[in-house]
Amino acid sequence: MRKMIIAGNWKMNFTPSKAVEFVNSIKNSIDTDKRDVVLCVPYVAIQSVRDALGGTHIQVGAQNVHYMDDGAYTGEISGAMLGEIGVPYVVIGHSERREKFGESDTTVNLRVLNAIKHGLIPIICVGETLKQRKGGRTFEVLRKQINFALDEVPAAQIAKIVIAYEPIWAIGTGEVATTSQAEEACAMIRERVSEIHGSYAANAVRILYGGSVDPSTAEELFAQQNIDGGLVGGASTKQDFYKVVKAGLCCE
Ligand code: PEP
Repeated sequence: MRKMIIAGNWKMNFTPSKAVEFVNSIKNSIDTDKRDVVLCVPYVAIQSVRDALGGTHIQVGAQNVHYMDDGAYTGEISGAMLGEIGVPYVVIGHSERREKFGESDTTVNLRVLNAIKHGLIPIICVGETLKQRKGGRTFEVLRKQINFALDEVPAAQIAKIVIAYEPIWAIGTGEVATTSQAEEACAMIRERVSEIHGSYAANAVRILYGGSVDPSTAEELFAQQNIDGGLVGGASTKQDFYKVVKAGLCCE
């Protein structure tokens, strides 16, 4: 049985001191029983948030990783760096990175390979634009993104990774995919993983839905057969994030 995972993506929010203040205010309300809870925070807050969460089972992740170990890549952070400080999860290929920072399917794949090399669990984001959905191209787009992202990833590793289906039109817009749209896309992603890497990997890989998840929508989404939790942006920076986490036990 797949373990639910609720991952918060703080994006570029909270200075380190505000981050500590925030986690101190929510940590006791978050139930980590039978589910993984991860907060993907800005790099500069990783240490202080982790210290503040000591004694809880809430984990701290990063929001991106470069694909080289070191070198002339000003401003970047490598998997070697994150691995050395023991960061367990890293978001890769978020649509904001793809759209605003020119990341491509190819560099997403390189980042995934680098993350795995350094023992990080990638949370790989895929998703279509509204135009692509309206044009009936959702599956085609997802298939291409999955093919690229998982290229050369050893089958044994596939079972450990996390894939987040995040329709771009639902991110930060307040517009949530319907439960059936989300389930259909996540099922298709699982099917694609099965075609490439076999049924063991497909049954084990955790597939999340992301896009304006909040306490009012989480439970129904997370109850779907192929949805193993959520990648949660805005709602993970709110006091009632615990309600989204709580929804992660809906399917027990
Ligand atoms: C995200 O940033 O991955 C996300 C899903 O954001 P939001 O929940 O705010 O739509």
